[in-house]
Amino acid sequence: MGFEYDSDTLHEECGVFGVYNHPDAAALTALGLHALQHRGQEAAGIVTSDGELFYAHKGIGLVGATFSDPDVINNLKGNLAIGHNRYATTGGGMLRNVQPFYADMAFGGFTLAHNGNLTNAHTLRKNLVKRGSIFQSTGDTEVIVHLVSMSDKETIADKLTDAVREIKGGYALLASAKGQLIGVRDAYGIRPLILGKLNDSYILASESCALDIIGATFIRDLEAGEMVIINEEGVTSHFPFKRRQRRSCIFEYIYFARPDSFMDGQSVYDTRKNIGIELARESAVDGADLVVPVPDSGVPSAIGYAQESGIPFELGIIRNHYIGRTFIEPGDSVRHLGVKLKHNANRRYLEGKSVVLVDDSIVRGTTSRKIVEMVREAGAREVHMRISSPPTSHSCFYGIDTPDSKELLAHTKSVEEICEFIKADSLAYISLDGLYRAAGETARNSDAPQYCDACFTGEYPVELTDHDNKMTGTTVSDLRERQSSK
Ligand code: SF4
Repeated sequence: MGFEYDSDTLHEECGVFGVYNHPDAAALTALGLHALQHRGQEAAGIVTSDGELFYAHKGIGLVGATFSDPDVINNLKGNLAIGHNRYATTGGGMLRNVQPFYADMAFGGFTLAHNGNLTNAHTLRKNLVKRGSIFQSTGDTEVIVHLVSMSDKETIADKLTDAVREIKGGYALLASAKGQLIGVRDAYGIRPLILGKLNDSYILASESCALDIIGATFIRDLEAGEMVIINEEGVTSHFPFKRRQRRSCIFEYIYFARPDSFMDGQSVYDTRKNIGIELARESAVDGADLVVPVPDSGVPSAIGYAQESGIPFELGIIRNHYIGRTFIEPGDSVRHLGVKLKHNANRRYLEGKSVVLVDDSIVRGTTSRKIVEMVREAGAREVHMRISSPPTSHSCFYGIDTPDSKELLAHTKSVEEICEFIKADSLAYISLDGLYRAAGETARNSDAPQYCDACFTGEYPVELTDHDNKMTGTTVSDLRERQSSK
């Protein structure tokens, strides 16, 4: 598995989608997951319920491949469904970790799908195992299932409330039991979750683009720390935690979310364009001839930069969209040829030009270095890199797969040193305040930041219990399975 740039990007976490009260719940869920494919490409699963029985289908790979057989969808009976796209942030990629999870409990069947990451999962798991719990999977999500099963409360909502009061982290949960669909957004609203409607049916999803694909109407984002319960009585809202100001993940706007989505009332596309505008104001390049995005995520910011600076925009780099995760890595015999699997320079537009390259982030820096080199080889006279995020200097513990902080170039190097490493003529990142302005604020409120920006600032809104207890590594069996699943 893997190709030349894959290890040097941040990875989306997961996507969730649920339907209440629709005769084609499974088919709608497959479509919703397809719209959320960018949030996880390793595996997909759907569990449906007809009020009595539950039906499940899961597979490794893309949604289209897992749910292409009409019989698979037809066998997923019932008008209630929850689905999940997986990118393995914890627990490896094997089939037993593919969600949604199902468990038979004293009150009946229970299913759960989870986007995000728990920061105290190892600690909770250790305690649960001591108390006799037997885990079937290696990820963090199953901890929640066990906590629900151990709650002595009467209703499913109260049981889930007991469970979410134990867990910490950034997460969006979908659960179904007793003919109800339940959604929970973590106490700070770090991970996104929205509510929509399709005639008499309700939808819960990670992003609004998943409503568009099935013609559903957006109702609202769940609030930070909100639990919604959808049943015959309609939608009721509960708040299991002390109310806090929302601090949603600002990186969703920079890179993770689809640009046609709206999150917490804001267009992702507009925010990305605004970032480009702010970047052009903060870090102009005198005498530049062209603004070129690193596709695809750099495109809206490059458009904003070009509009604000008046410098022409061109697609000076073309991306190959047909590289899947299964593409074979070039062997040693062809590697020396400099195989360009993902990006190629559009030489005719670059020759002799001073180019402003716009990209979303620099992780380890190896990708940026290759791209700068490629643009130079195509004849560019100067290459000025502009980055639509502040320097990524800290790991994410809330569901985004980032390397350890030590491996992040910006953790130890200054902007000048990074510029030297990637061999650009100049390098500038958007400032933190510039990013906040692009995201609709006048500036970052340092006393009460309006977003999670921990990967730029190291200020984590939720305690890192496992990390602080040095329990961040996966278990030995995890690692073994992760190896064999590759
Ligand atoms: Fe998003 Fe960064 Fe916060 Fe992770 S640490 S949730 S990537 S802003």
